[in-house]
Amino acid sequence: MNPVATGTAPLVADPARLQDHIDAFAALSEPDSGPGVTRLAYTALERQAHAVFTRWMTDLGLRVWTDAAGNTLAERSGTNPDLPALGAGSHLDSVPNAGAYDGIAGVVAAMETARLFAEADIEHAFPIRFVAFAAEEGARFGQACTGSRIVAGLTGPDDLESKSDAQGVTLAEAMRSVGFAPHEVARARWQSADWAAFLELHIEQGSVLESTGTPVGIVDQISGSTRIMIEITGRASHTGGTPMHLRADSMTAAAEVVLLAESLANDTRHRGTRISVGKMEASPGSITTIAGRTRLYVDVRDIDSDRQRLTVAELVERAKSLCERRNVTFAATALADASPVILPRRLRDTVASTCTDLQIDYRVLPSGASHDSQMINHVVPTGLIFVPSRDGISHSPVEWTSADELATGTSVLAAGLLALDQQMRPHATA
Ligand SMILES: [Zn+2]
Repeated sequence: MNPVATGTAPLVADPARLQDHIDAFAALSEPDSGPGVTRLAYTALERQAHAVFTRWMTDLGLRVWTDAAGNTLAERSGTNPDLPALGAGSHLDSVPNAGAYDGIAGVVAAMETARLFAEADIEHAFPIRFVAFAAEEGARFGQACTGSRIVAGLTGPDDLESKSDAQGVTLAEAMRSVGFAPHEVARARWQSADWAAFLELHIEQGSVLESTGTPVGIVDQISGSTRIMIEITGRASHTGGTPMHLRADSMTAAAEVVLLAESLANDTRHRGTRISVGKMEASPGSITTIAGRTRLYVDVRDIDSDRQRLTVAELVERAKSLCERRNVTFAATALADASPVILPRRLRDTVASTCTDLQIDYRVLPSGASHDSQMINHVVPTGLIFVPSRDGISHSPVEWTSADELATGTSVLAAGLLALDQQMRPHATA
């Protein structure tokens, strides 16, 4: 049972229905792509997932539209048409071989909230907009949160033309291929005056909630992330014919850079910094040829923005001198950069008191992963609600959150929206 305080009869979020939605979205996966869900940003499959969201919200009587960035919005009218909107939502795309919950959990929670409100005929003064963001995952183009960055005015046409996937398809081309016009994305921009507050529900992607037996997390800070591509160029030559002392091996230099990154992150001055090299490409990529060129993709995350940028600068500086010593050339290219965000105290307090009202335990915690919340908080005050991730695992087919845990989080989301609706009303309409 997951009661939602409404002032009248309690509403009950339905775990089975949430699970049905999760399963339906999980079925929309690239065939022959291996285990788990593969539904990348700006693909036909991502659009199919948005169509499922559209159909559900339309059937509940909401007004639904898709913006120039591919985000889908569904509005339930409030009783006061002059008020700005309250919002809730998350994203529907995935990384390759993902689980079924990252992003999707927040969208199905929004879908269930819309159903609860429709079936109980809940009245709210503010319009409520449920949002499915497009292209949140950075896996395809190296930049995360494209849909929410666009609405927040943090990215535009030039940026969309300059970022491309492994096949050389630019973000702009990918957007065009699914029917959007990248040069018109400014039209998707949100105005602060149109929005009162926003709540995103997301899986934790860490193990704090599970290990402490806490059903709900309320996020206070979201890490920033700087992503760079390091290209090391040596000389390709025969592995048998080239003596060790005559090599210019880009791969061994790359290996040293990977370990340098790890030791920098573990340095006590950098406590809280996370550096990862999640992808490396050696060329020509043959077992009998010394790698002439190696590219490393580095992700630096921190909740301290100064430390985030200083760490990147130090890594680049030291990797560069390491490459000089090894007689290979070094180049670094910035791929993406997002600052850490402190989410507004007021929304954290509202979600916390909602949990207390519903007698649901919670704890306040930071988020190491980026989220749409981080971007839209530039335009609308945003709160981020976490539900537990089994073993803390995410971006993997084994990612899992129980339907009951999801229902508990959904209850907090639904009641949180109604609490905001009460709290934020101007006096005249209270
Ligand atoms: Zn996500």
